[in-house]
Formats: sequence, C-alpha cells, structure tokens
Amino acid sequence: LGEPAVEALQPDDVRALLPRPGLDAQKYTRGVVGVRAGSDTYPGAALLAVSGANAGLVGMVRYVGPEHVADTVRTAHPEVVGAGRVQAWVVGPGGGDDAATMLAEASQDGVPVVVDADALAHVDEAGADWILTPHAGELAAMLGVERDAVEAAPLRHAREASGRWGCTVLLKGHHTLVAAPDGRVRVTTTGVPWLATAGAGDVLSGVVGALLAAGLEPYDAASVGSWLHGAAATQAAAGGPLTASRVAVHVPQVVRETLAGL
Ligand code: AMP
Ligand code: MG
Repeated sequence: LGEPAVEALQPDDVRALLPRPGLDAQKYTRGVVGVRAGSDTYPGAALLAVSGANAGLVGMVRYVGPEHVADTVRTAHPEVVGAGRVQAWVVGPGGGDDAATMLAEASQDGVPVVVDADALAHVDEAGADWILTPHAGELAAMLGVERDAVEAAPLRHAREASGRWGCTVLLKGHHTLVAAPDGRVRVTTTGVPWLATAGAGDVLSGVVGALLAAGLEPYDAASVGSWLHGAAATQAAAGGPLTASRVAVHVPQVVRETLAGL
C-alpha cells in the first residue's frame, strides 16, 4: 500500500453535502449542536465557538459553561439556549482547567464530539464518530513528538492519529488535512494566511460541530466545515486582514453562494 490519494472537495461536492431544510423541517429535525467551551480565563473562545455553531446550519445551538460566560454568549447570540439534548457536542475552546470535565460530561451523552483546544490533552478513548481538531502543536503533544516533526510530515501524522484514536482527525494549518480512520484524506483548498489569528480555530470547531449535528458523516462534517470556514475567511479578509469574529459572519453568505452554484 502506497500513500493514499488526497482528495480536495470541489464546490459541487460541498453543495451536494450541505444540509438544507426540507419543507417539513423543524428546528429539532435540523439538528441541535451543543457547545461546552470558555472559562473565567477565556470567555471569548466560547463566543467564537458559538458563533461558528450558530451560523445557520442547524436548528438550535445550546451552550453549557460558567454562568457569566453564558450571559455573555446569550447577549451576543440571543438564539442560543441552555442545557438539553443535542446531536453533537463541541468541546474545548478556552476550556482551560475545566476542559477535562467538559469532555467527560459531553462523552456521557453518547453523541459525536468535536474535540478542540484544551480538551485535546484529555482524549483517552475516542468514539468512532468523534472529530479531533488539533493544530500542529496540539497534535504533536498528543502523539508525544516534536511540533517540527508534525509540520514536516503533516499527512503522516494526521493519518497516524486517525488510526491511533480510530476517528476523524482534522489537522489545521496552511493546508488543513482531514484524515478518516479508513485511510481517506481530504485537503482543504480554501482559506488565507490571514486566518492565522487568535480564535480562528474556535470558530472552525463550531462550524464542524453544527454540520455533525445536522447529520453529516464525521469525515464530511470535518472537510465541509473546513472548506466553508476557509471560504468564509477568504471572503471576510477580502485581500486584507481579518479577525476571527468576522469569519463566522461570512459563513451564511458562503453557504448561499455555494447552494446557488456561484
Ligand atoms: P487555531 O490554531 O486553533 O486558532 O486555528 C487556526 C486556524 O487558522 C485553522 O483553521 C488553520 O487552518 C488556520 N490557519 C492557520 N495558519 C494558516 C495559514 N498560514 N494559512 C491558512 N490558514 C491558516
Ligand atoms: Mg485553537
């Protein structure tokens, strides 16, 4: 067996995979995504992850976290509700010392989990329907290797992690890779280097979690989410600087244009 073929999603592929409400849609049938993120130290990460989750791809977004962070989340996103049943969890951004508890609590529901940021250090056994979303430094720590080694051979390390944990691994970077445990790999061709900014990954975890809750397979949720996130960033940047908050704002417009075949 040689190296696997690395696929790149095309706009037509994304259009075919995007969730869209049928005439009989209800908010619950469109999917409910839950976000466990943020802490006293990092309240903003919760806002950013929620902004990605609340970009219109699901019927409902729930947030669970410290009460004052929840207040801030509800002020910025009045659509967001509290604890309850979800079809997928997003866990980790800004979790700090609470990340281990967040992951343990999310795991109990038996639904797919997007594990990001501080929660990645606490992944022991992962479900087959989970998605791990490390950057090179986080993946290096998980695998017990140097960051340089991951950056020198991202494909090999993404596949190794996918095999080790038996789930989808989304390795972030200039060329984000999505590796499935069956050996498939997709590379994200959208995005801009301006995305190398604080909070960009938090937004991504929310977008991916929403697609997972909407019913996409983990490999599709991760790669379509990364594609949308990159396209939204390119649109937000418009050839210049961007902030992470702006990326989520552009996701609905990218979805609109993709559905319209523009
Ligand atoms: P995080 O490190 O968790 O904040 O995630 C950073 C986000 O920015 C990920 O979506 C990366 O793929 C993206 N990113 C980081 N550096 C670059 C780059 N040089 N070019 C394009 N995207 C990048
Ligand atoms: Mg991050």
